[in-house]
Amino acid sequence: MSELRFNELRDEQVVYAVHRQDRTFLPSRDHCPLCPTRPGSPETEIPLPAFEAPRGASEVVVYTDDHDASFGTLASERAEALMWVWRQRYEELGAREDIEYVFIFENRGVEVGVTLHHPHGQIYGFPFLPPVPALEHRADARMGGCAPCALLQRELVDGRRVVYENDDVVAHVPYAARWPYEVHVTMREHRRSLLACSPGELRMLSVALQSLTRGYDALFERPFPYVMAVHQAPTASRPPDAPPPASGAARPAVRTDGDAGSGHLHVEFYPPLRTAEKLKYPAGSEQGAGTFISDVFPEHSAALLREAILRAP
Ligand SMILES: [Zn+2]
Ligand SMILES: [Zn+2]
Ligand SMILES: [Zn+2]
Repeated sequence: MSELRFNELRDEQVVYAVHRQDRTFLPSRDHCPLCPTRPGSPETEIPLPAFEAPRGASEVVVYTDDHDASFGTLASERAEALMWVWRQRYEELGAREDIEYVFIFENRGVEVGVTLHHPHGQIYGFPFLPPVPALEHRADARMGGCAPCALLQRELVDGRRVVYENDDVVAHVPYAARWPYEVHVTMREHRRSLLACSPGELRMLSVALQSLTRGYDALFERPFPYVMAVHQAPTASRPPDAPPPASGAARPAVRTDGDAGSGHLHVEFYPPLRTAEKLKYPAGSEQGAGTFISDVFPEHSAALLREAILRAP
């Protein structure tokens, strides 16, 4: 049903999850598979997975039973509890031998291809290290240490692109953002994953993420579509550059230490909007050449977003 193929020209794996063609597409509220089952109605379900054991995992995390809520409107205790759910899934999936990278993400809005409106996120357990985290690992090597640590220090010194900060977490529009309102939410201290965070840091992470998503909604006074991606340390026991182990080889459980090394917990947001109505669609230059062209400087969009976060309810 599901198959991996290696694309030589792109040096990347492509996942064929063919059964996904049959899945529910934007069902009405009465047919929402993520709402609780109502008395007298058919049982609700969970959408079909992209990966299945023994080669990876695919999970759905339903944020709430309220069909019309969003991550930003969750009660703060529920948002904080979600951080603990992510942490637990990272630990359990990361300990599995067939999973090399635990990827937590959310797609919000039809603009980014959402097929179910009910507030939810997803977790993929990739049976390989995907290209984006692999690039971040290479950035560590290029910069001679943890890249997110170094980049965060630069942003704090400059200050123009920082949109939000609290004791443990900083949100900024990257110096070379690809999307007009791209934001990275980064732990101040070097934390390889959710497992290395204190309870207080997890709480402050949820506060930062909610402040940002409420600010996004306030920016154009409309629900703001985005892709949210949680980046943390890979869970394969071998370094990302090493060849795969012989099958059946033993491996230690996921590391919980906070030492320097590939991976520094941060959450990236890629919103496709340029204005309230205009979409930034990755087209010729972005898809065919791999070069993003933006019509707004990150310093400018950061100033607008900073104000929106301050005025958000
Ligand atoms: Zn629903
Ligand atoms: Zn770091
Ligand atoms: Zn990242």
